[in-house]
Amino acid sequence: RKGNVIITGASSGLGLATAKALADTGKWHVIMACRNFLKAEKAAKSVGITKENYTVMHLDLSSLDSVRQFVDTFRRSGRPLDALVCNAAVYLPTAKEPTYTAEGFELSVGTNHLGHFLLSRLLLDDLKKSDYEQKRLIIVGSITGNTNTLAGNVPPKANLGDLRGLAGGLNGLNSSAMIDGGEFDGAKAYKDSKVCNMLTMQEFHRRFHDESGITFSSLYPGCIATTGLFREHIPLFRILFPPFQKYITKGYVSEEEAGKRLAQVVSDLSLAKSGVYWSWNNKSASFENQLSQEASDAEKARKLWEVSEKLVGLA
Ligand code: NDP
Repeated sequence: RKGNVIITGASSGLGLATAKALADTGKWHVIMACRNFLKAEKAAKSVGITKENYTVMHLDLSSLDSVRQFVDTFRRSGRPLDALVCNAAVYLPTAKEPTYTAEGFELSVGTNHLGHFLLSRLLLDDLKKSDYEQKRLIIVGSITGNTNTLAGNVPPKANLGDLRGLAGGLNGLNSSAMIDGGEFDGAKAYKDSKVCNMLTMQEFHRRFHDESGITFSSLYPGCIATTGLFREHIPLFRILFPPFQKYITKGYVSEEEAGKRLAQVVSDLSLAKSGVYWSWNNKSASFENQLSQEASDAEKARKLWEVSEKLVGLA
């Protein structure tokens, strides 16, 4: 049978390119988990994904009710779940003030981390039940949260500190809107959320790989300077960033190439190892990359897991 893969944020950028790459193999049915139904339908059509290869299902990661509703809807579809790709993200680098999710969590961490944390925890049971040969749970990471890289050292740097802001509810009322308890900074909140994504993947691996055989992975697909991720940035940045990445840092990849990379992490037999953060070299060959000290701190991962469980109502 065909594999069934859920991809969050498949209405644009990397998620859409990955949906296209997987659908084109004829071996996957893609569930596009998106907050904007019409946009997702139009996006699927615009890249030529054929009708029988995808289903759009509503998911707004900035609402935990919506996450639970999505899981219900998916289960009622009767499809088994063979792979889950947590890809959606918001990036608010120019925001002066924090904005919040339905439950009152700062929006970047609330969407990118907490929404995906609940989603992947709930869907873990569905993955376990699947009889597919290869079961995978992928959380898209980034170089920007990784302070052992050049890009990860551009200030403001990611830093989760002792998680006091997160433990306090990340609500800007009786706690800071930042995980480390500091002043709000939109660019840092995004990087922090990506560190959470990479820590969560490793904690999943430690807790569930041996028992379930599921492959847990993260990746840095390359700098896809053309996606909607940068839509909130100042206009000059949006003009200069793609050529800068293409000609100066040479980290640039097209959406199509990045989509093929993520599709490999979903289905290639050679990328079946669990607990790995994948990257690609200049020749587009994959390799197991090193994470920064904070992004591979097992004690912090455990604490993040426990605090996140409380915030999303799992503990
Ligand atoms: P895009 O902005 O193009 O895509 C982000 C997707 O997330 C969109 O489909 C968007 O939906 C969706 N989304 C945002 N908020 C929500 C929400 N509340 N509920 C459901 N979906 C939501 O960016 P990219 O494709 O670049 O980003 C994809 C992933 O790649 C992210 O995890 C990002 O961190 C990562 N990444 C990107 C890099 C880059 O250079 N671009 C580099 C490294 C990692 P909508 O279409 O409705 O806005």
